Amino acid sequence: MKIAVLTSGGDAPGMNPAIRAVVRAGINSGHEVYAVMDGYAGLVSGSFEKMSRKSVSEILAKGGTIIGTARLKEFNKLEVRQRAINNMKEAGIDALVAIGGDGTYRGAKALTEMGFPVVGLPGTIDNDLACTDYTIGFHTALETIVDAIDKIRDTSSSHQRCSIVEVMGRYCGDLAVSAGLSCGAEFIITPEHPMNKDEIIERLKVHKSEGRRNAIIVITENVCNVHEFAEEITQQSGFACRATVLGYVQRGGSPCAEDRILAGRMGAYAVDLLSQGISGVAVGIQNSKMVHYTFDEVLSTPNESMQDIYELAAKIR
Ligand code: ATP
Repeated sequence: MKIAVLTSGGDAPGMNPAIRAVVRAGINSGHEVYAVMDGYAGLVSGSFEKMSRKSVSEILAKGGTIIGTARLKEFNKLEVRQRAINNMKEAGIDALVAIGGDGTYRGAKALTEMGFPVVGLPGTIDNDLACTDYTIGFHTALETIVDAIDKIRDTSSSHQRCSIVEVMGRYCGDLAVSAGLSCGAEFIITPEHPMNKDEIIERLKVHKSEGRRNAIIVITENVCNVHEFAEEITQQSGFACRATVLGYVQRGGSPCAEDRILAGRMGAYAVDLLSQGISGVAVGIQNSKMVHYTFDEVLSTPNESMQDIYELAAKIR
């Protein structure tokens, strides 16, 4: 079989180990493997490169994705996807492994519905996909965030400040709640568990009156304007407050061991599924076991895998 592999949407640490696993497991199972450059854009332009065992050596520790990623809005058009399928058929490609987030899965589902076999791998730091406990990249990004918040706490405490730290996640609070728990954040604000601003300010006043030197508020992006919120806290709570938006630093860096292993398991599992003639599904990990669900199931199921972490963060605050 000829298998193509692409990375799409936002890059995530661990995409390279996932590509490596697909290439190595594919070749070791007797398949040919092709890399598609720059996500769905490379499918549409017919940008394929035959991979060898050597083309993926020394990439396990590299951040980002060596085959590039892109966002191609036009991929929601039938004629654009048809061009992609025609290009793959012309190159003799039988199946595709698509590594990315929910948008990538929507594109993969659309290709599946047009009769082309696709298996998806969850590659996003946001952990915002259902039917998997973790996505590839989540743990590395979490380590980066925890390291940053610990550092911010040092300066915050020295200056007796309140610090708001905005983290990624799009509309999913998994990174914020996990980082908040790990750093002992005084407040964790996520789309799933928003907090009343007045209540936060009241609690900060009490905090200050108890002689506490600093407070950390971890918040998911897209919840509010953190700089305006910092100003409100400064005006009303007695704490000088600063906001830090961590930004793209969270997506970069060498993948941690957990992400490398997860990516390896998922990539090899995707090849096994295709070898068995199974496609139209996305790979996940649940209770340490590899699982697969249809794209429809993943895209229509609420993502609630971190509920217990939120409760724990509240319990041991
Ligand atoms: P991240 O979680 O990092 O944002 P993502 O995979 O969700 O990753 P998107 O930009 O949302 O990133 O999607 C990646 C690509 O998938 C899009 O640029 C587009 O090419 C394709 N895509 C998204 N939605 C659809 C859709 N409804 N139909 C077809 N293709 C889609």
